[in-house]
Amino acid sequence: MSDVLERFMRYVQVDSQSDPENEERTPSTDRQHDMARLLADELRALGCEDAAADEHAYVTAHLPASPGCEGLPALGLCAHIDSSPDAPGAGVKPHVVRYEGGALVAGVVDGVSIETSPSQVAELERFKGQDIVCSDGTTLLSADDKAGVAEIMSLVARLVENPALPHPRLAIAFVPDEEIGHGASLLDIEAFGAEWAYTVDGGDIGELSYECFSAAQATVRAHGVMVHPGSAKDVMVNAITVLREFDSMLPAHERPEHTEGRDGFNHLMSISGDASDAQMTYILRDFDAAKFAAREQSFVSIAALLNERHGEGTVEVELREQYRNMAEKLEGSTFLVDNALEAFRACEVEPFIEPIRGGTDGAQLTFRGLPCPNLSTGGFNFHSVREFIPVSSLETMVDVLEQLVARFAKEQ
Ligand SMILES: [Zn+2]
Repeated sequence: MSDVLERFMRYVQVDSQSDPENEERTPSTDRQHDMARLLADELRALGCEDAAADEHAYVTAHLPASPGCEGLPALGLCAHIDSSPDAPGAGVKPHVVRYEGGALVAGVVDGVSIETSPSQVAELERFKGQDIVCSDGTTLLSADDKAGVAEIMSLVARLVENPALPHPRLAIAFVPDEEIGHGASLLDIEAFGAEWAYTVDGGDIGELSYECFSAAQATVRAHGVMVHPGSAKDVMVNAITVLREFDSMLPAHERPEHTEGRDGFNHLMSISGDASDAQMTYILRDFDAAKFAAREQSFVSIAALLNERHGEGTVEVELREQYRNMAEKLEGSTFLVDNALEAFRACEVEPFIEPIRGGTDGAQLTFRGLPCPNLSTGGFNFHSVREFIPVSSLETMVDVLEQLVARFAKEQ
């Protein structure tokens, strides 16, 4: 069994699922500490002397540069230790299936075959005759993102074993609670000390993402004027009615259920309140900076119009930016994209660029000043009991990372 496969099989058996019900605490679950401690111990054993797991289950470590590369900027590599709360995540029993074509069967649960057919995942055809790791069908596999963790750990082990392989100083971070939107917000970027970084948290091998949504949250509050409904004519302003007017002025076709690809949207997430005071929460998403700005502006303009209609101060809009499209910050740093593309091609993997209709830890880190595109792990069917990863993809990703760090072993 290869080093990366051995690590992967071991890491997925450590339950480190996050919990959206407990997001005010980091980590949201104590079990993430188990994974963090394990990784910190292994990094120390590999020779990363400063490896540590902190009280928030953040693991950080540094690997010194190879001889001759000491003066170069450090490169960061990042993966998340939690697994998705969307499917059972405890007691993962990974097993390797020789895939002979047709449906890929993870296991049989209560007489039902838990399987993936090539009509659901067309890429399966590529892995005919190969070994694929699945769960037993009762849990997710947690390739998202234990595959990313195992690939980075295996790279570190390889670099330690082969001191001649060129690389700059590497800054490693394994972070908790990605699946519940924590976004590596407690990573001390200065102490981390990387000039650039990559997250390893994507899908099929070859995937590279450096574009994601720009994101904001809007809170819309309406303050009504309450009088006895029997004598309300021309006096009452019903806060709920005002919010209904507000929502009806947003374009109906720009809702998540009608958008795809590079479309943006406004998503109404919650409404609460009564006739005197009510509020709505939206999330706003767009790839394009100008369209994103226009989207935010439309909220302000609709509020102004309704205030004209119902009286100043009736509607308030509060916009809070959440993250920005990474591509904006990567302008001028195209080598981050080029180096990744070259690293894939050097391993005979044809890369493909995938805009992310969401955020990643990397989007948040980029927003905070650490440019951070996302690389594939090789896995499929994330957040599902049908999750799987081909062994060849796991193994090749370690080669890709080796090629990638070598490209940072010179001035950019
Ligand atoms: Zn992930």
